[in-house]
Amino acid sequence: MKNRKTTERFIKMTMPFLMAVILLLTTFTMNSSVTYAHHDDNQLIKTVFHVYVDGKKIGTVHEKSVVEHAVEQQLKQAKEKKGDFAFTLNESIELKPEKMFRPQYDHDAVRETLSKELSVSLEAYRLMIDGQNVAYVFSEKEAEDVLLKLKLEHVSKDELDALEKYKDKDKEAQISELEPGESKVVDIDFSSPILVSKAQTSLSELVTVDEAISRIKGGTLQKKEHLIQEGETVESITQKYHLTMDQFFTLNPRFMLAPVIRVGEKVTVTEKKPFTKVLVFEAVRKQNEIPFPVEKQEDSTLEKGVTKTVQKGQKGLENITYTVRKTNGKTIEKDILNQERVKEPVTEIQKIGTKVIPSKGTGQLSWPAVGGYISSHKGSRWGREHKGMDIARPSERSILAADNGTVAFAGWDGDYGNKIIINHNNGMRTIYAHLNSISVSPGDVVKKGSKIGVMGTTGQSTGIHLHFEVYKNGVLQNPDEYL
Ligand SMILES: [Zn+2]
Repeated sequence: MKNRKTTERFIKMTMPFLMAVILLLTTFTMNSSVTYAHHDDNQLIKTVFHVYVDGKKIGTVHEKSVVEHAVEQQLKQAKEKKGDFAFTLNESIELKPEKMFRPQYDHDAVRETLSKELSVSLEAYRLMIDGQNVAYVFSEKEAEDVLLKLKLEHVSKDELDALEKYKDKDKEAQISELEPGESKVVDIDFSSPILVSKAQTSLSELVTVDEAISRIKGGTLQKKEHLIQEGETVESITQKYHLTMDQFFTLNPRFMLAPVIRVGEKVTVTEKKPFTKVLVFEAVRKQNEIPFPVEKQEDSTLEKGVTKTVQKGQKGLENITYTVRKTNGKTIEKDILNQERVKEPVTEIQKIGTKVIPSKGTGQLSWPAVGGYISSHKGSRWGREHKGMDIARPSERSILAADNGTVAFAGWDGDYGNKIIINHNNGMRTIYAHLNSISVSPGDVVKKGSKIGVMGTTGQSTGIHLHFEVYKNGVLQNPDEYL
C-alpha cells in the first residue's frame, strides 16, 4: 500500500519545515556563492523546487503553485467525474527547494508528468468474501444494492419484503399457517457471507453494482479432481474445463511424457466457482392425490379375458408440508415436515373372468341368424344340388355361431363370397356364406350363439341371405335335421 496523504494537507503541514530547509539551503548557497557572485548575477539567483513523486524526481519548478494547481486539478477532475467525495492523492509529493544561479526549470514538463502520474483514491465500500476483496463500490447504498440484487435473482421483491416484515416471527408458526397450495420463503442467505466495510481504494478499482454482481457470480478459479469417464480424452477434458494444453500439463505434469489417460484415473483441473451462492429456504404446503389400490378377484362365472369393475376406485387426498433448500435456484434438500391424509382412497375391485369357453361343440346346433326364415332348403334346385339351407329377412343381420368351436376358415371363397368355417371339434363343421363382413379370424374359439359376422350377398348370390351348410365326419348333412 502506498503512503496516502491528503496532499493539500501535506503541503500546509510541511510548509514550515520546507521554509526551514529553504532558509538553510539559502544560507548555504549564499555563503558558497558569495565568493563568485557579482552584483548583476544576484538577480539571476533564484529559488527553485525539485519535485519528487513517491521519492522519484520528476522535474523542477520555479513556483510551487504549479504543483499545487496540478494536484487541485486531479482532485477537481475526480469530483467532476464521480461526485463530491473525499478524494485523496495516492502518491506522495515532495518539493525540495534550492537556490540556483541561472536555474533550469520546466513548468510544462512538470505539469504533464504530474497529470500522467498522479492518481486519486477515495473512501469506498469493499465487498469481501472468504477473506478476498471481490469488489469496491461507491457507496453503502451500492453495496446494499449488490446484496439485494443477488437475492432478487432468486426470490421476488414481495417475498423479500415479507421476509423482512416477519423476520422476528416464529418460523414454525409461519409454516403451520400455510394453506394447501401456498408456499413461502422463510429464509434467504449467502453460502459465504459478503462482508461490507469502508476502505480506501483508487478510482480505477471502483466498479458498478452490476459488475460487482458478475464478479461474485463469476467467482475464482479453483482446482478440483476430475475422474476420467469412458470415452474421455485429454482434449475433451481441456475443452470441458476451458483449459489450454499447457495449462493442463502444468496442472498434471506426469502426463507430459505420455498423454494417455485411463478410465477411473483422476486428473487435476480448474473450474470457476462463484464466491458465494444464494441460499433460499422455502416452505411449501401442497395437496397431493393418493392413487387408489386395485384389488383383482378371480371369477369363474365370467369368461376368461373379461374384466368387470364391481367397485370403482377413488383417489385419496393428503396435505403435505415440506421445506426446500435451494442453492442458486437448485434444490439441494427437501424435508417433509408434516403429512396428513384428508381423504382415504377407495380400493377398486375388479372381477377377472376365469371361465374358459369350450371349443368343443355340444352337438346341438342353434339357429345361426337373428330371426329370419328358411328361403331355401338343402336339396335339388333348378337341376342342381343345393348344398345347404338359405336363411333370409332376419330381424337383425348378425350371423351367430351354431355351436361352440374353433374358426377353421374366415375369408373369401369364390361363389361363396365371404365365408366362415367353424370346426366344432366333435366331428361336425358348419359353413356360413355370402357374408357382408367377417368378425372372427382362423384359430378363434367361438361360443355357441356368439356373433361371427354380418349377413350379406357376396359371391354367387341373389339378395341378402345366409347360406348355411352342415357336415358330420366330412359328410354333408341336411341342416333341417339339426335345427
Ligand atoms: Zn344356398
